[in-house]
Amino acid sequence: MYDVLVVGSANADLTVRVERRPGAGETVLGTDLVESAGGKGANQAAAAARIGGRTALLARVGGDAYGELLLHAQREAGTDVTPVIVDETARTGTAMIIVDPDGDNSIVVSPGANAALTPQDVAAAKQTIAASAVVSLQLEIPMESVRAAAATAEQAGTRVVLNPSPAPETALAPELLAVADPLVVNEHEARQLSGRADGTPAEWAGALRDQGARSVVVTLGGDGALVLDASGATEVPGVRVKAVDTTGAGDAFTGALATRLARGDSLPEAARFAVRVGAAAVTKPGAQPSYPTRAELEAMVP
Ligand code: ATP
Repeated sequence: MYDVLVVGSANADLTVRVERRPGAGETVLGTDLVESAGGKGANQAAAAARIGGRTALLARVGGDAYGELLLHAQREAGTDVTPVIVDETARTGTAMIIVDPDGDNSIVVSPGANAALTPQDVAAAKQTIAASAVVSLQLEIPMESVRAAAATAEQAGTRVVLNPSPAPETALAPELLAVADPLVVNEHEARQLSGRADGTPAEWAGALRDQGARSVVVTLGGDGALVLDASGATEVPGVRVKAVDTTGAGDAFTGALATRLARGDSLPEAARFAVRVGAAAVTKPGAQPSYPTRAELEAMVP
């Protein structure tokens, strides 16, 4: 029924640009507020849908204007939002983002309805999980719900793409790591989860596979990605583009990767495609607004 079911977060990104980020007790003036659709789960669903994957999202939003904004953005991208739960008792998750002229930011996330996505919600979506080729998971919803989704997918024979982001302070549960095929990490997450501050991407990937992941992808920003699977290690070169805003690039990569895996690509093939989608996403501002359709991708990153 679906190529990709994303089980994860949905946040409204509230962004203000400032000359200087404020210190404790300080007030600074910023630009007009920009409200856009974000949250790792919603981003990955939008990326998968825009690139042509049959995509659904299981998430919780509040019964407020931001919830409407997020649902609207998903529908525009082409995501089936039937599984999204509108929670009248919670506020939609928000990320308050302050960006300075160097592009450095400070972010405060209020999880809101994301924190109320329960293992029971996941259990209720069991048939949808079983009817999807790939389930894509991140860590912006309660860990027990991520684990429930991973276990349900494993039982149903649905492939799990796990993006352990934001990087957890403690090691991932072994049964969660054991179903990741692949585990998708950026350099920071690779160092943290592999327990190796030094080393190369191939060494981090090897350590993560030794810890139990079935396959591993390390994303390397403008340098592309490193893939480790049963066929060995593959370096996927980056695509040279003029980077304007890297927000949500990792989610664009992961959504595109999941779509291509669902369509039968090998992991290195899917990563080659996802690197192009990530590169296209950094050429425009914002997370979801920067994600390309298939036609836009061919035009931008042939
Ligand atoms: P973010 O947190 O900004 O969403 P991330 O740290 O999770 O990203 P990255 O490894 O920085 O992930 O980027 C993911 C993918 O996006 C890369 O594999 C690459 O395809 C693309 N990408 C990111 N930055 C650039 C860049 N400067 N030039 C070209 N492609 C890029």
